[in-house]
Amino acid sequence: MKLLLPLFHTKGIVMLLIDCPYCQEKRPEVEFQYAGEAHVLRPDGSSPVTDERWAEYLYIRSNIRGTHRERWRHTYGCARFFNAVRDTVSDKIIDTYKAGDLPYSPEES
Ligand SMILES: [Zn+2]
Repeated sequence: MKLLLPLFHTKGIVMLLIDCPYCQEKRPEVEFQYAGEAHVLRPDGSSPVTDERWAEYLYIRSNIRGTHRERWRHTYGCARFFNAVRDTVSDKIIDTYKAGDLPYSPEES
């Protein structure tokens, strides 16, 4: 498990540093773009999808309070998508990992 990533101050603004798992360096949050909840599975198309199931896929998100898994894009860096585990209460990013890798699980630490 990675430790919480530090904040840094620039011109009186507190900015979060995000560790891009591809670039393998901590960069200012302004280089990144939030891309929604992670691990939302698209219906595979092997069987007909109801309107309810399709609407759930498009619009229903967990919106939890606490540890949340999210997709981010390093827009002004490598431009790749990755996942992050963020505490929505403290706004701290706990971990980042490449798309396709297993997510951090607080139960395992
Ligand atoms: Zn990157």
